Amino acid sequence: MRKRGNNKIGWCHEARNPITGCLNNCSYCWVPGSKNRFIKEPDPQDLIAMHAYRRQIAVAMKPRFHPDRLEKMYKELKNTPPSRVFVGSTGDMFGPWIQPGAAVSPEHVKAVIETCWRLSQHRFLFLTKFPEELGKYAFPDNCWCGTSISGPGEIERVYQLLQNARYSRRFISLEPYLEKFDIHRQPLNLIIGQMPWLIIGGCSAVPEKDIPKFEPPETWIQPFTLAARKSRRFNLYIKSNAGFGDEYHHFPPELQVATE
Ligand code: SF4
Repeated sequence: MRKRGNNKIGWCHEARNPITGCLNNCSYCWVPGSKNRFIKEPDPQDLIAMHAYRRQIAVAMKPRFHPDRLEKMYKELKNTPPSRVFVGSTGDMFGPWIQPGAAVSPEHVKAVIETCWRLSQHRFLFLTKFPEELGKYAFPDNCWCGTSISGPGEIERVYQLLQNARYSRRFISLEPYLEKFDIHRQPLNLIIGQMPWLIIGGCSAVPEKDIPKFEPPETWIQPFTLAARKSRRFNLYIKSNAGFGDEYHHFPPELQVATE
């Protein structure tokens, strides 16, 4: 396998961020801390420190389009061997705040997708918590769209993804996996039957927010490993932060690149 770039994500060779920021404010989000390692959530009783902290987070997570990064992405990738490239690892490129005239507009998102289309030897992967927005865009064949969920309580996103991304170009990221899928319940079968690819991950510690590391119990993961062994259509990638070992690092055939 071609050597991966310097990223902890594992399932991609590299990540690019021509659009950054997100207003979704998930409690477990690691993005603000990654940019501002000095930011530590203060004592909530300290109102002045809390105010300053919130301002720093807001600045770090403000949605932005970076044309220079998009140009760099094109220049650097146009003559490189095929790779899996995660686009938008430090934000959400499809949030409802992306509107005409806003700091990040649908035109910016379209410019990113068009650049991916021009880099046809690569596979580009997008992840969003707003899959209902994906239908606004036309994605070329080398683009994959996924949604992130943390358990069955967020299954509505899976339904939205089914409506807005075709079977052979969609996936789910169950990370952080925080709420157990019941083997006898419909949502689990929906994922196994309707998704060619599932990523499972734990929750990395976010020291700035005093969020501890969490690895989902093996029994939560086993229904998915069982399904992956039984079905050729269902492929599973379990990240190292799930504490399950390296056995399941599988990709659908269309996501494998020529150098692997
Ligand atoms: S959607 Fe993603 S980038 Fe946005 S706050 Fe949640 S974890 Fe962070």
